[in-house]
Amino acid sequence: MRLVLVGPPGAGKGTQAQYIASNLSIPKISTGDIFRANVSGGTDLGKLAKTYMDRGDLVPDKVTIAMVRDRLSEDDAQDGFLLDGFPRNVAQAEILRDMLKDWGQALDLVLELVVDDDEVVRRLAGRRTCSQCGRIWHVEFDDKQDDRCDACGGTLFQRDDDKEDTVRHRLEVYQEQTSPLIAYYADEGILVGVDATGPVEEVTQRAMEAIRPFMG
Ligand code: ADP
Ligand code: ADP
Repeated sequence: MRLVLVGPPGAGKGTQAQYIASNLSIPKISTGDIFRANVSGGTDLGKLAKTYMDRGDLVPDKVTIAMVRDRLSEDDAQDGFLLDGFPRNVAQAEILRDMLKDWGQALDLVLELVVDDDEVVRRLAGRRTCSQCGRIWHVEFDDKQDDRCDACGGTLFQRDDDKEDTVRHRLEVYQEQTSPLIAYYADEGILVGVDATGPVEEVTQRAMEAIRPFMG
């Protein structure tokens, strides 16, 4: 299964990606996570990406695509993958299509996580990430008062780009650059929308029901 998750920042892509990828036994490939790992590791890629991420802008396509090409070339991605956060504009989508075609592959399905703006802002404002295992929490919805990860005991932090000003800009970037992907994949006939409101487990259930008809 070759799957892409799209939706605005805060829609729950990362949260759902963990469960969907584990249900389907495919690797979850999150470009945001790979960039953040490079920032923490102080690599050249991380230094470059950080200037864009801090502003809430997209990292240039050339850099992002090279990184995704490398990751998709790894052994574990040959029989399927779940992309979270890539593609993020039509140019990336076109290059992804051509890259997969060269390898005799194609996307099976693009799942759009649908939530309204108010909910997105609420989710982003309370998002916390574990510095150790990367798990995603929410201060209010998961009742996290103690800044400790229930899964591994690591310390939780708030992403710099989840502060209010940057969030506003990221939502604009989504509208302008990423949302055209919805029409692009609808035209290709592989887009399915999933209602991403309500409890996490219910959203996962809806997503799995949407995926089932596309499984080989
Ligand atoms: P969110 O989970 O809020 O949607 P991500 O973790 O996916 O955010 O991305 C964080 C940041 O990493 C983005 O704002 C952007 O700067 C960069 N980034 C992630 N994926 C891409 C991509 N496909 N193209 C360009 N930049 C990206
Ligand atoms: P994205 O990757 O799309 O930016 P995340 O998966 O990081 O989104 O989720 C953003 C925030 O919303 C996180 O704090 C997460 O715990 C929370 N969240 C995700 N799904 C739900 C849900 N169904 N109900 C309530 N909160 C959610």
